[in-house]
Amino acid sequence: MSSCCSGHSTSSVLACPQCGVSGKNVSMKTMFHQVKFPDVLLLETDSYYYCADESCSMGYFSQQGKSIVKKQLRAFTEVNGHKLCYCFDINAEQYVNSLKDGTAEAIKNFVIQKTKVGDCACEIRNPSGQCCLANFKQLEKNFKGGYLKRQL
Ligand SMILES: [Zn+2]
Repeated sequence: MSSCCSGHSTSSVLACPQCGVSGKNVSMKTMFHQVKFPDVLLLETDSYYYCADESCSMGYFSQQGKSIVKKQLRAFTEVNGHKLCYCFDINAEQYVNSLKDGTAEAIKNFVIQKTKVGDCACEIRNPSGQCCLANFKQLEKNFKGGYLKRQL
């Protein structure tokens, strides 16, 4: 069984027509698990990209001009704390708190271990279709840089 982290290729990127941030290619499987009913019925097969900029309303877009806004996605129905890990429902604030009180390592190891044995579900849970682990590394970098200390 292939894990989400070694699975599909991430070679292709396209700039979001709304904000210009480069979006990564997502699989149709991700799309079918993210787009809400009844919009999912109208989903046409195409090569879609995901805009990961949370301040941008664009969700998925294709080169052919098809677009699906974030409001149409399941991941954005929940009150949106900055989500770090969609598989295990961990948000950024919770992880920053754990970095402060020294429990972060255990949380990260849990995620790494589940990912290794294929019990994560990034491809369908994460609207980007990408592995959540990269988000942890990014947040740690920001945390060590003092960026988030000022933010929170
Ligand atoms: Zn965008």
